Amino acid sequence: MDVQERLRQLPKVDALLEREDIAALAGEVPRALVVDAVREAVEAVRGSLLEGHEADAGADAVAAEAIRIARAKARRSLRRVINATGIVVHTNLGRSPLADAAVDAVAEVARGYSTLEYDVESGERGSRHVHVEALICRLTGAEAAMAVNNNAAAVLLALARLARGREAIVSRGQLVEIGGSFRVPDVMAESGATMIEVGTTNKTHLRDYESAVTERTGLLLKVHSSNYRVVGFTEEVPLEQLVELGAKHGVPVMEDQGSGVLVDLRAWGLPYEPTVGESVTAGADVVTCSGDKLLGGPQAGVLAGKRHVITALKKHPLARAVRLDKMTLAALETTLRLYLEPERAAREIPTLRMLSATRDELAERAVRLADEIAKRCGDAYLTGTADDVSRAGGGALPMADIPTVVVAVSPQRLGVVELERRLRMGDPHVIARISEERLLIDPRTLAPAEEPEVVDALARAARE
Ligand SMILES: *Cc1c(COP(=O)(O)O)cnc(C)c1O
Repeated sequence: MDVQERLRQLPKVDALLEREDIAALAGEVPRALVVDAVREAVEAVRGSLLEGHEADAGADAVAAEAIRIARAKARRSLRRVINATGIVVHTNLGRSPLADAAVDAVAEVARGYSTLEYDVESGERGSRHVHVEALICRLTGAEAAMAVNNNAAAVLLALARLARGREAIVSRGQLVEIGGSFRVPDVMAESGATMIEVGTTNKTHLRDYESAVTERTGLLLKVHSSNYRVVGFTEEVPLEQLVELGAKHGVPVMEDQGSGVLVDLRAWGLPYEPTVGESVTAGADVVTCSGDKLLGGPQAGVLAGKRHVITALKKHPLARAVRLDKMTLAALETTLRLYLEPERAAREIPTLRMLSATRDELAERAVRLADEIAKRCGDAYLTGTADDVSRAGGGALPMADIPTVVVAVSPQRLGVVELERRLRMGDPHVIARISEERLLIDPRTLAPAEEPEVVDALARAARE
């Protein structure tokens, strides 16, 4: 059969829509999406044929493809995944899962009306800032605070207010790119500040800042080099010294702290990370951080600092453009409240709970999980446990190898790449790592309730 003949044989959209198997999608897939799917399936075959490829133009084959496309379209795009990678703040997988209390608070304010900008005492208009300001101040020692959409927005807002039309001095060692689209020089340009780079990639001295200060200087900026480390022959100027220099010249000092550490992580055997409170205490005029990295809350940007600075930031036109919605505020307020009792924060905030899980605790879970997999899946897999490392992720603690014990799965009847694909494409999606021909499942990032789901997913993948 030549191409023209096959094109003529292609079923018509209307005819396909009348088929019983496609009509049966009603109730499962909205009619509009069924029509789109049928058109796409017909077009896909037509395109293939015109490009000279083999394609089945029969009505049954086109209908089967249309049904597949229709079901895919009917599925919600933003879906749950099971994170078995051991990367705790996994940016592509949504960074920090929320504490149950935070989820409940989100649901409550989302479902109905709330005190978002309403003061029940006076019966008058209130401010959305009140829900988190006192808490941030209590936890960091700052005079004033606010929260915006994310840390990138916090940095942009602060730069625009403090340094627009003026010069902002920053060390060359801190001109970082975070996650592809946040680059310090680009954010600086967008804010209207002129960036003055000082020092070198590995070493910047106080005298480098000092000699760059002029009457045009609007800001001294320190950026936490979140996702990488300069190691070896290095020097950074401590925040305290920048604050002294700023005071001498009447120039404000800002720190972009990045990961949002509110408690000393060394208590859990993790490397030292400066806390937001330490930067506030060191005298920074404003400190910014993310809400959904090590803080373990929703996507947000937290600004903590001097009252006159925060007051000015709240009034800036950009503040309205980057303001938080009620659901995020509910999640952030609830997460911050948990920090008022640090042991409770460690227990209930998933990011902290996962980061602080010990190797021994994880070894026990890994052994149990490996046993379950062996029991359920028989000889489909060779399953054992192995020492490995988890990562904090999200550009936090980049050098920290956090000891863990993983379940190592060697498929006996299919390739490990195919196993990884089947788990990833499954329902629920299970995302795992491959290393040395084995699929690794790190219990650190699995909620206990997800363990049986991983076993089920492996059993399904073996049967497919
Ligand atoms: C992550 C990070 C940002 C960007 O924060 P988002 O909350 O992702 O917008 C900016 N600066 C530093 C130092 C960071 O670590």
